Amino acid sequence: MPASPSPPVRGGPDACPGALQLHQAADGHLARIRCPGGLLTAGQLTALAAAARELGDGRLELTSRANVQLRGVDVDAAEALAGRLSAAGLLPTPGHDRVRNILGSPLAGVDNVPDWNVAAQVRALDAAICAQPQLTRLSGRFLFAVDDGRGDTISARPDVGLLPGTDGLVVVALAGVDHGLRTGHSDAVRVAVAVARGFVADQRAVDGTIWRVGDLTAAEVARIIARVATEPGVHQVPTAHRRPLPRHIPEPSVGVLRRPDGDHALVLAVPLGRLTAGQADLLAAASPQLRITPWRAVVLPTVIDAPDWAGRLRTAGLVTDPGSPWLGVTACAGRPGCLRSRADVRADATAAHGDRSDPAGVGLPVHWIGCERGCGTPTGRVVRVLATGDGYQVDATGRSAVHVLPGAALAAAVRTAREEP
Ligand code: SF4
Repeated sequence: MPASPSPPVRGGPDACPGALQLHQAADGHLARIRCPGGLLTAGQLTALAAAARELGDGRLELTSRANVQLRGVDVDAAEALAGRLSAAGLLPTPGHDRVRNILGSPLAGVDNVPDWNVAAQVRALDAAICAQPQLTRLSGRFLFAVDDGRGDTISARPDVGLLPGTDGLVVVALAGVDHGLRTGHSDAVRVAVAVARGFVADQRAVDGTIWRVGDLTAAEVARIIARVATEPGVHQVPTAHRRPLPRHIPEPSVGVLRRPDGDHALVLAVPLGRLTAGQADLLAAASPQLRITPWRAVVLPTVIDAPDWAGRLRTAGLVTDPGSPWLGVTACAGRPGCLRSRADVRADATAAHGDRSDPAGVGLPVHWIGCERGCGTPTGRVVRVLATGDGYQVDATGRSAVHVLPGAALAAAVRTAREEP
């Protein structure tokens, strides 16, 4: 499938926040800390919790790219924050702060035996990106993904995605499309970096007038592919052998999982993707390694005495019940954090979904937004609940949008929209 025939026109360098380049929001400065693959050690999560408590508003926001945001940071605390992140290994090379955007299948090795070690590939890719000075030119929106084969990260249409196939080869997809590039497991990281280098070779990437592979014409994408296909260990298969790649993978359930090796893991949903510092500390105590997911949950890959920890974390406000009304529910910052917002969307989402006696349904994912910009909207089919200033517009793919006031009618409209047609 060719790239979009009408790529968007960018006005200049993207303004994505980072750990060093803070964004001034209505509730103070916002720092976005990249966590490649969503991978964190307990020590790193504890450091983030301490930073949130002492330098921010006491919460950690999980993003759709499995990163962490701190809000309400005083600009005078920026240097102290950078020092803490550096000491925790969360800021390996300052120049690459905003470009270490890597998704990794969070349940790899937890509910399956994957063809390759996703966490190891993510770490290798992160190190390879940080070793390339020219990749500091990537925009903060350029996205890599390492999939375990199930399609949960490829479906986010990353600019460069690695997907192992059953034939022992890795599909190197661009913007979520299989253009026929194949390589071996041991070459995949090098090839992903070669694609990114091909992208930043374009002067417009340096000028900031292209941010993502989707900003290129089909001919420009084809030129990058042709160049990468000449790399050692890479070949291009004919069109007939190319794979349709998944567009949407349903959000996995939550709770205690028995791993293939007999140990136990724990998957927890985080209501509206916001962890308190106390919840983060408790998660860090439960497991030495943690994985944030692109659907804003947390995976504890190995937990000793998982049922006991599930109970403690549930008591602390995290979700382990597969029937919880919080599953599949996300929201942008809304008021008071964002001046653009027409409503406190988190409060309205909490009112609609938090009441177990009349929750706003289950089914399709739902994303609440304060304006048309739609920050953090999940990929795939999703119900958008857009603040209009005098209520909400509830919009599901393939259905007419309805306009409703907050209250029981809103919860009912969301419930109907979430049902599969
Ligand atoms: S969607 Fe609009 S209101 Fe929500 S965070 Fe983005 S810009 Fe702000």
